[in-house]
Amino acid sequence: MNIVLLGPPGVGKGTVAGILSQKYGLPHISTGNMLREAVAKGTALGKKAKEFMDAGQLVPDDLVTDLVKERVSQPDCKNGFILDGYPRTSAQAKALQQFAAIDAVFDFKAPFKTIVERISGRRTCRKCNATYHVRYSPPKKDGVCDKCGGELVQRSDEKPDIITERLKVYEQQNKPLIDYYRNEQLLSEIDASYHITEIGRIVDQCVSVISRT
Ligand code: AMP
Repeated sequence: MNIVLLGPPGVGKGTVAGILSQKYGLPHISTGNMLREAVAKGTALGKKAKEFMDAGQLVPDDLVTDLVKERVSQPDCKNGFILDGYPRTSAQAKALQQFAAIDAVFDFKAPFKTIVERISGRRTCRKCNATYHVRYSPPKKDGVCDKCGGELVQRSDEKPDIITERLKVYEQQNKPLIDYYRNEQLLSEIDASYHITEIGRIVDQCVSVISRT
């Protein structure tokens, strides 16, 4: 089963993708994480992607598409995968269709204010990428990852002015993408406005669609 999760940054896609990935044994493929890794390692791709990411802009379509195409050709994707953060544009959706058949697309929705509050309080482990929220899911010790002891930092693109830019970019790109998947009759809307402690209610909506697919 090949699943795509759509929705603005901070809507909870990553958390839900992790839960679905465990439940169905499908790899969780986050282009944001892959690109951040490439930036951290200083690869050629990372060097090209960095300036776009730091400005809250999208990385060019062909760079991200090549990355995803290579990733989904790996053996662990033979029973399917969960894409989180890709496609982001209609051009990416059309490119994806050339190398993978998508079974279900979830469109995560939550109010703007909720999203900004979620992202600006988020802290990410430098080492293992685990995420926390300063108010809603704080680590046991301030600034330290519960899982691996790594340092928790606020990502440079999670500062308020960059968040606003990312949400603006999302709004512009999202409509044609939603229209595209609605036309393909693959789209299901997911109410992601629930508090993080009620993440199960968001997951249940996805599971119910998957069990019907
Ligand atoms: P995310 O963690 O998914 O919000 O992604 C963080 C940043 O990585 C985005 O603001 C973009 O700069 C870049 N990025 C991630 N996925 C894509 C994509 N599918 N297309 C273009 N840029 C992307």
